Amino acid sequence: MGSISTQLESVYRLKCSCNSYPWGKQGKNSLSARLCENGQGWTGDGPNQDFKVDESKPYAEMWMGTYPVLPSYVHSTGEDLQDVIDRYSNELVGEQVIKKFGHSKLPYLPKVLSIAKALPLQLHPNKEKASKLHEEKPDAFTDPNHKPEIALALTEFEAFCGFKPLKQIADLMKLDSLHRFMPAEGNAPDAEFTDDILKEVVRNMLETDDDAVTETFNFLTRTSPDRFKELNAEHIPKLAPRLAQQYDQSDPGILVALITMNYLVLQPGESIYIPADGIHAYLSGDIIECMARSNNVLNTGLCPKAERSNVELFCSCLMFSPHSPEESLLRSKQYQRGRQGKTNVFAPPMSEFNVLETKLAGGEREELAAVNGPSIVVVTKGSASMEANGKQYELEEGYVFFVAQGVELDFNAGKEGVLMHTIFVE
Ligand SMILES: [Zn+2]
Repeated sequence: MGSISTQLESVYRLKCSCNSYPWGKQGKNSLSARLCENGQGWTGDGPNQDFKVDESKPYAEMWMGTYPVLPSYVHSTGEDLQDVIDRYSNELVGEQVIKKFGHSKLPYLPKVLSIAKALPLQLHPNKEKASKLHEEKPDAFTDPNHKPEIALALTEFEAFCGFKPLKQIADLMKLDSLHRFMPAEGNAPDAEFTDDILKEVVRNMLETDDDAVTETFNFLTRTSPDRFKELNAEHIPKLAPRLAQQYDQSDPGILVALITMNYLVLQPGESIYIPADGIHAYLSGDIIECMARSNNVLNTGLCPKAERSNVELFCSCLMFSPHSPEESLLRSKQYQRGRQGKTNVFAPPMSEFNVLETKLAGGEREELAAVNGPSIVVVTKGSASMEANGKQYELEEGYVFFVAQGVELDFNAGKEGVLMHTIFVE
């Protein structure tokens, strides 16, 4: 394997890999690890070693695509997918997409995430900031690109995403023990609570000492749950002890998340959109995550101290949209190019990708018309057969495929039905 050069085809089955982070789900409880093992993914230093779940490890993310940190290989030859794409870029990616992005790399990076405990409170810097950071610290910021993302629930999925409406935060800030985080100008008798004040509040929470955070945390857990109900924040007393157990009650990320951010519980098939510079922290569940081709992140809480980025840098990037739970949601629409009407499209307001969700009951069929750019198909659940350019492919849970531009796909679900996600750009 590895030395064989891959021939030009319409479809390549891929070998993907899954990483291990402390917030991932343990062993076989992790959907990302199960899919990776079923799909005969890789581990170690390349495609020669098959991925096997180790029950002692927490598995977090299966990556699909060509980002060099965890690339996909062509299953039959073991060749790096990006090398194959570079060799046949016009046929596989197509001129339209090459012209649009100025390169023949896949412009998106899809992942399956299995989340057992909160991920660090984070944001992904916009293009301008990212290219500056990449220039200054290429080891920490491995590319100059932005990383807006969507997160699509496969199970119930809890997330903190964007900021609450200002009025709700302002009301919470009137509670004892939260006063201390208000900047002086916010305490003037007729002061309005604005995004500028909110930014100061976030900064003060992140910069304050451990004792003050702990004191405030204790205040929150002592306050009557009814008081939080009146303030539209019933989740605070429920989540505070859980987050403190996962990290530490002196972690300032707990305050920022609980007091200032939207808390959402999504059901399978629902999705949120995180713009560049948007604050977020995922809490639990299995999801499909897709982002623009980038790996840049600033973490600032819900993680060990040593892993927190500079507060000043974090706050200078912060942006104030979305500003409500409703604004965080990305609603799907029926996909017009799914000829049997069994496919929905999630189309975020960015140019790098759309995500399709195709759900078929046993024996049902769907045809996806060709698109003018490359696709990745992942079989999230069940099985099916697929026809592309007269060739048949078996689809099992965890199988991942690269599909060349201009190729029409015809699916027939197996007995148990199938759930598939297709990421594409054009
Ligand atoms: Zn993120």
